[in-house]
Amino acid sequence: MQQYSLQLRRYREGRAASAGQFFPLRGVQGAKLQLILFGPPGAGKGTQAKLLVEQRAYVQLSTGDMLRAARASGSELGKQVAAVMDKGGLVSDDIVNQLIDQRLIAHQGAPGFIFDGYPRTLAQAQALDNLLARHADAIDLVVQLVVEEPALVERVAKRHAAEGRADDEPAAFKVRLRHYFNETAPLIEFYRGQGKLVGVDGMADIDTVARGIAMAIEAKGTALGHRIPAPEGSPGPASPKKRRRK
Ligand code: AMP
Repeated sequence: MQQYSLQLRRYREGRAASAGQFFPLRGVQGAKLQLILFGPPGAGKGTQAKLLVEQRAYVQLSTGDMLRAARASGSELGKQVAAVMDKGGLVSDDIVNQLIDQRLIAHQGAPGFIFDGYPRTLAQAQALDNLLARHADAIDLVVQLVVEEPALVERVAKRHAAEGRADDEPAAFKVRLRHYFNETAPLIEFYRGQGKLVGVDGMADIDTVARGIAMAIEAKGTALGHRIPAPEGSPGPASPKKRRRK
């Protein structure tokens, strides 16, 4: 156990040094993980985030869900964002950053966060780094769900038929996809450059995608010098590699 603590501390201190700040050691047992589920609208981020919440008790932070809840409540914020959302536009960075800030404060003891539909711009990604740093934390892993465009169109058309979301209508969805490719997709390089990006084939069925995500999480845990416990009944990696000491 001491060895793990030492490795984890080295890792944390390395990261702290690069951020120019001291980060206190986080618990080794049930280690925390800050995960971004990344991908275009219709990639399955929400579905997979909900599975992770059930299996691992992480907290899902979906800015889309938060904004829809604000609209349903009839709040000022809801009224402010309604038109932009219905047309498939992006709500301002300030609004979504603030929503995330509030949730990070409200769930300080959470075993981990799953960021779903956030960040969507480089400014949001930088804001998220700053917000997490305030909590002596940082993004550990970005899982990109890779789905081909025709499949996205088909999935969202089905969701539109089932749920009737205005922004799933073909014209609005086109705008959302355009925003994804123009503003959001550049984040792939941002996180790849930080060594945090892992791709998972999002064309597979829900359980197979979930297994891919679980493997990415557990591999990340091993790389950090500790194992992130797999949930009950999770298949996990076939044969976890032995931890190598530096
Ligand atoms: P989603 O459910 O994640 O697809 O989000 C639905 C809509 O909410 C988006 O099309 C945007 O209008 C808005 N939205 C959600 N998250 C963000 C974000 N991070 N930045 C800007 N707008 C967002």
